[in-house]
Amino acid sequence: MKGIGVSPGISIGRAFVLGKTEAALSGVLLGSEAEISQEIAQFDQAVGQAVDEFESIKSSTDLSLAEEDQAILDTQIELLTDPQLKADVIEKITADRKNSADAVIEVIKTFVQLFEGMDDEYMRGRAADIKDIGDRILKYLGAAGNSLPPNFEPNTIVIAEDISPSEIIIMDISQVIGFATQAGSKTSHTAIIAKSKGIPAVVGCGDELGTVRNDDMIILDGINGLVYVNPERTIIDDYLEKKATYQQWAGKLKALKDQPAVTTDGKKITLSANIGSADDMADVFEFGGQGVGLFRTELLFMNRDTFPTEDEQFGFYKNAALRSKNKPVIIRTIDIGGDKQLPYFNLQVELNPFLGYRAIRICLDRTELFIIQLKAILRASVFGDLKIMLPMISNVQEVRAAKQVLAEAKTTLLYEGVAFNNNIKVGVMIEVPSAAVTADILAKEVDFFSIGTNDLCQYTLAVDRMNEKVSHLYDPFNPGVLRLISHVIEQGHKHHIHVGLCGEMASDPIATLLLLGMGLEDFSMSAASIPAIKNIIINHNMDEAKAIYKNVMEMDSSEEILAYLKGHRE
Ligand code: PEP
Ligand code: MG
Repeated sequence: MKGIGVSPGISIGRAFVLGKTEAALSGVLLGSEAEISQEIAQFDQAVGQAVDEFESIKSSTDLSLAEEDQAILDTQIELLTDPQLKADVIEKITADRKNSADAVIEVIKTFVQLFEGMDDEYMRGRAADIKDIGDRILKYLGAAGNSLPPNFEPNTIVIAEDISPSEIIIMDISQVIGFATQAGSKTSHTAIIAKSKGIPAVVGCGDELGTVRNDDMIILDGINGLVYVNPERTIIDDYLEKKATYQQWAGKLKALKDQPAVTTDGKKITLSANIGSADDMADVFEFGGQGVGLFRTELLFMNRDTFPTEDEQFGFYKNAALRSKNKPVIIRTIDIGGDKQLPYFNLQVELNPFLGYRAIRICLDRTELFIIQLKAILRASVFGDLKIMLPMISNVQEVRAAKQVLAEAKTTLLYEGVAFNNNIKVGVMIEVPSAAVTADILAKEVDFFSIGTNDLCQYTLAVDRMNEKVSHLYDPFNPGVLRLISHVIEQGHKHHIHVGLCGEMASDPIATLLLLGMGLEDFSMSAASIPAIKNIIINHNMDEAKAIYKNVMEMDSSEEILAYLKGHRE
């Protein structure tokens, strides 16, 4: 079965199928007003008990939860006490005369459908959290259909439709060597937790996974996103070998952690990490990252009901600065719009959201929100080496206008008597083709560039990065995209500014030598990808990289380029 590999590694073991039956509607309707009040009170009480349960899991010394697990439980508590959830349930009890359990089942179902239908992968991943809190409330209303996992036998591979964040947090996973789920996405919490615990996982396997039975023999390939059920002996032998090779390779890579990323002829390269919150900082250093090349701050604005205040944002950025060991942290101002929506910020539905009201365009329109974020970053800048990066810049006026708002933020802080780094560096994402082509103009206005290949590719090729129907056309190795990247690096260096690259291309081993040959000196990627890229850098020299670059630029199709780069890698 093919799914999405979200936590790398290979496991061979026996299946345990997590049984989960859906809670069923009873259909009982309420008669009197007294019954209605009683059901509302029962609902409130069940929510209170569910909150208490999460609080006690959080403070349990037996479990001694990691900070990110605690944060996930905080999110669950926030969802449980969400005013909209409460209002919808009470509406069903009073207007439709539903009993409290039926009201909860129906409201949760609507929320889950809403989130599952969202374009954004992160928001789709939140459906599991909502299902989870629904199950908890139903448990206290005596209506849950849920059965929690027993003690697992050694070498268990857990198979499930989906695993909720709180289930995985409280599960005794000491004997678990893998997870496979029917649902889920790269950014679902289950995936995040499995990865943080180093357990191979494959999510999004689809309904076919439902055919697996307890004790089936399973091979789980978290690298390629594959699940084999009762495989033949030859496949098992093949995988025993692959597993040994992988373990050797992973051990070797991990040992590179403290080794600098320097080519064999002495060229120093910076390998930084992309993060979504200060909690990701531990991983950055665990995998040998040298700082943060992209802090996607909009992730901090999701999963909430209101915009974070200046003080709250100050807390987020100060936390990142304090954990940064004085290494650079590039904080990108919010990039909402496009596929990233905020539930409390009513953006109008647009025909072409990626070409519409997004990122810097929103910030320059709603400067009262932008200035809050800039003030918060400035205040945090005395606690570490923070830099500001502006997303989706398409012309120089936007940069000038944003710098004007930054100047206002500084003046206000001076007036308020608050300390900040007056020389904070300001850079831009190069992710719109016009910005790439006019890199010489932009370079005069900013301190650094970071190339966002995810968007640069979609805008250059007119291929929506979210649309599966055209995903075969989404091609960072298209000669047009490569020419733009090379031009930006060249112009950045000509104007003596720092150029990094923080799109997914930075973590693609096929692209590493080509980008090195173009002169790229700073690669930023998910922390776990750093060792593999470092391994390529320390085993090659710049002459090889430049030759690859020269040859590639003479080729006329990505087909030819990819075949060449793949061949060169072997
Ligand atoms: C990019 O576009 O390459 C990028 C890094 O930004 P995001 O993926 O957040 O749009
Ligand atoms: Mg982008």
